[in-house]
Amino acid sequence: MTSDFRVTLLGSGVPTPRPERFGPSTLVEAGDQTLLIDAGRGATIRLYQLGVPLGRIDALLLTHYHSDHTSGIPDVWLTGWLGSHYARRTRPFRVIGPVGAKELMSNLEKAYAADIRIRIADEQLPPAGVAVETEEFAADGVVYERSGVRVTAFEVDHGDVIKPAYGYRIEYGGRRAVISGDTRFNENVIKHGAGADLLVHEVAAARPELMEESYIQRIMAHHTTAREAGTVFARTRPKLAAFTHLVLLRNERVPPPTLDDLLAATRETYDGPLVAGEDLMTFEIDETVTVRRRGA
Ligand SMILES: [Zn+2]
Ligand SMILES: [Zn+2]
Repeated sequence: MTSDFRVTLLGSGVPTPRPERFGPSTLVEAGDQTLLIDAGRGATIRLYQLGVPLGRIDALLLTHYHSDHTSGIPDVWLTGWLGSHYARRTRPFRVIGPVGAKELMSNLEKAYAADIRIRIADEQLPPAGVAVETEEFAADGVVYERSGVRVTAFEVDHGDVIKPAYGYRIEYGGRRAVISGDTRFNENVIKHGAGADLLVHEVAAARPELMEESYIQRIMAHHTTAREAGTVFARTRPKLAAFTHLVLLRNERVPPPTLDDLLAATRETYDGPLVAGEDLMTFEIDETVTVRRRGA
């Protein structure tokens, strides 16, 4: 059974260019609203696999400005404007994010000015469909509300200089999905995650022998360990907890932790429903939250 409220991981990866884990991006389908949270590498490919026209996205919500979360934006924006069946956006591309969204989008408009000019002249594509409407926010609060879908942004902690950084809580029909964004262990995620049906959280892990390396320590200091994520889940008690943005660190000598390692570490602090997310995994949010794999 499909629900009228579902969340799909388009990209469950990190900057590493892995074919099976694309860059961070999450699709939210709630009633008649279609939202994208972040647009990492390959978001358009995953939307195409799902059969979701790129032009159907009602708004793109950004968590923060690390490039792995934004490098797919020009692709969603410009490819979504083409006249083909998988695109066809005829209304402005709406972007909502913490302060910095306007700078990013206005610079992308400059960067792609030639393409826009050429396609309007050559293909007669509608100028309205390539226009960008950007909204910024600077504090916790409701950032999107339409057709019974309400999205609340909440600040998270991705490190002292990686600011701003936010997570999102999406509510529809009495149900609630929460997406942590990139963050260290953070009480605000617990506050906004309380009572969530679905809690999607980032996670990072490295084998102990790798933890002596300073660059590994720096990366780990920007993220949440599996044990810490387990504490977040134990204190929020979602119907389903899921990992995305899996930072599985390695080097030339030391292999990355396995998914079993990750889940075992989470089990030290949490004994409830838990799944390690993967690209194209869908969470159907009803009385219970069920996992389904979509796309070709
Ligand atoms: Zn980040
Ligand atoms: Zn990231």
